[in-house]
Amino acid sequence: MKNPREIISQIKQTVPPYVKLVAVSKFHPASMIEEAYAGGQRLFGESHVQELQQKYQILPKDIEWHFIGHLQTNKVKYIAPYVQLIHAVDTHKLLVEINRQAEKNNRVIDCLLELHVACEETKYGFAPQELLDYLKQGEWRLLKNIRLCGLMCMASNVDDEEQISREFEQSNTIFARLKTEFFPDDDYFTIRSWGMSDDYLIAVKHGSNMVRIGSKIFGPRVY
Ligand SMILES: *Cc1c(COP(=O)(O)O)cnc(C)c1O
Repeated sequence: MKNPREIISQIKQTVPPYVKLVAVSKFHPASMIEEAYAGGQRLFGESHVQELQQKYQILPKDIEWHFIGHLQTNKVKYIAPYVQLIHAVDTHKLLVEINRQAEKNNRVIDCLLELHVACEETKYGFAPQELLDYLKQGEWRLLKNIRLCGLMCMASNVDDEEQISREFEQSNTIFARLKTEFFPDDDYFTIRSWGMSDDYLIAVKHGSNMVRIGSKIFGPRVY
């Protein structure tokens, strides 16, 4: 098998230069992150707070850590001092807590709203209409220590490429609508985080500018 840095450089050749690659290192040892780091990768994604904490302590401080998984309110405080982007904000309550912890740390924390477009069991994320209603209602505007930078979603875990395309396209359409209605003058509202190992090429065709790729880079995860 090829090493992570070679695979990262191959992946980058298959996507346009504006697409940011988050190397998803969850369940992989720090040594594999170091390997990718040596090849120039700085953007890493984790989905468990405790694991991220351990890696943050021992790895170089210029790594940009993204939290990509479901985040529990009571764990925000641990990552608030350093996390660069929280991908999967799915409730107002979570956003309020991120804001509170960001304030304590004298920071503004960038966040994405998680959109639920997959036809699947997963219980997380705002449904499209729910997200529109939430933004319209406007309470989020009072939160001065968070910045909403875009959307994140996951497509259904199926082989049907047309279904995956439809789901990403739906996200892309909703992103454009939110941008016009709620963030027209906010040049930071640009991030469209969709696409993983098996569907990132489809995602990029449907507006993704940030892909989150794990197993393709680091191999299968051992849970
Ligand atoms: C694990 C994970 C990924 C990466 O998945 P791969 O299929 O290994 O590329 C991407 N996004 C989220 C939210 C994840 O939890």
